[in-house]
Amino acid sequence: MKYVSAPYWWDDAPREQMDDVELCDKLDAVVIGAGYSGLCTALSLARGGVSVIVVDAEFIGYGASTRNGGMVGPSFHKLGVAGLKNKFGNDRANAMLKESVGFVDFMENFLKAEEIDAKFSRTGRFRGALKPAHFDAMAHELEILKQATNINARMISKSEQSAETGSPLFHGGIVYDYDGCLHPAKYHDGLVQRAIDAGVLIAPETAVTDIEKTPAGFIVKTTRGNIRTFQVAVCTNGYTKPVTKDLRRRVLPIRSAMIATEPLPADLMKTVMPKGRMYGDSRRLVAYYRPSPDGSRILFGGRASGLDDNPKANIRDLRASMLEVYPQLSDIGISHVWSGRVAYTFDHVPHLGRFGGGKDDGLFYAMGYCGSGVARSSYFGTKLGLKMLGKEEGATAFDDLPFETRPLYNGNPWFMPAMLTWHRIADKLRL
Ligand SMILES: Cc1cc2nc3c(=O)[nH]c(=O)nc-3n(C[C@H](O)[C@H](O)[C@H](O)COP(=O)(O)OP(=O)(O)OC[C@H]3O[C@@H](n4cnc5c(N)ncnc54)[C@H](O)[C@@H]3O)c2cc1C
Repeated sequence: MKYVSAPYWWDDAPREQMDDVELCDKLDAVVIGAGYSGLCTALSLARGGVSVIVVDAEFIGYGASTRNGGMVGPSFHKLGVAGLKNKFGNDRANAMLKESVGFVDFMENFLKAEEIDAKFSRTGRFRGALKPAHFDAMAHELEILKQATNINARMISKSEQSAETGSPLFHGGIVYDYDGCLHPAKYHDGLVQRAIDAGVLIAPETAVTDIEKTPAGFIVKTTRGNIRTFQVAVCTNGYTKPVTKDLRRRVLPIRSAMIATEPLPADLMKTVMPKGRMYGDSRRLVAYYRPSPDGSRILFGGRASGLDDNPKANIRDLRASMLEVYPQLSDIGISHVWSGRVAYTFDHVPHLGRFGGGKDDGLFYAMGYCGSGVARSSYFGTKLGLKMLGKEEGATAFDDLPFETRPLYNGNPWFMPAMLTWHRIADKLRL
């Protein structure tokens, strides 16, 4: 099989080498990580009159922000409404849910206001139920969710589902009408441009190796020199390194991978994804799939087995997962395979704020989007910048949540491969 080991998105938004910027000795703020979180943080800061540099250890757009599936949704996490209320109380849970429903509107308005052409579209999302019990659970969850939010979603019975999906695997499912999609790398390119226009300095190949606290602020030590600064924002998500070791202990890096198929015959594409929505399902082993923006191919994603990139294994596993959903694709070739890192958290919610105590004391951060970070990171980054400016508009329903870790966990999730294997078996046995 002949395939390219790089994101499909980079075909029409290639990663271009950016010019090096001179590292100033002194700046108001340093942002670590040039993905959506870091760029949105820096944009807020620069527009608030702050001198700011974004540094990235790799080329600009190396991280998950140019590798993702481009699905935009409110991302209700694994806890479910009841779990969220149990953990955070009724009022806080309701506030988080309401704010999350607004993330898609936020993205649409943000892209419009910034005039970024990222091929945003409100396609809606279909989530298939693997078995009747999953359908009932989805219907129950939707009822509670509707009491807490104004979410626009509806159940689709098995007899109606052929209008939504050409998959024979499901026992009905749910449609979230408000969800949408974008082209992740074009969005990232647009953000980089807006940040530069606003006066943000962006430094590729500049890894932060140490952060020293001083009476006046911080000295950020990088592979290209030191920067004295008043504020530091850590926006490194699934790539968080030991240099911010307290934050690293609070996120679980997981590799997520995707494949793109060769173009499908138009009539096959129409039967497989009749409405061109975003798709997912209730299998334990996460899978997400969508048409390419031109509607010609299927982009299919899921969890990769290890933390390192392994294109061969990713093609094998993702193709098998895709054929389970769409057996009619057995003759279609794979053109691209790629992967990147996401970050989960112990309480299944994303986090932002200012770290208190330990080595990372005083650092601002936004991370832990639990695999659904396109809208979340853009929203959290924007809010984080406003917080750093001391503005009230920086407040969110996610403020001041305890950012949990576990004893002996140092940022290396050695137990993940075993968990993924268990999920794979449980899916097969329909547990
Ligand atoms: C394959 C895949 C599919 C996905 N699909 C979706 C989807 O469909 N919808 C959705 O909502 N989300 C999706 N996500 C998740 C989403 O892409 C991420 O949550 C989001 O992009 C996180 O953005 P970020 O800016 O926080 O981090 P990133 O974009 O990952 O950027 C972090 C950056 O920090 C840099 N860095 C780390 N340490 C240092 C250091 N010490 N010094 C300097 N730089 C450093 C890294 O080099 C990296 O570039 C997907 C992710 C992947 C990998």
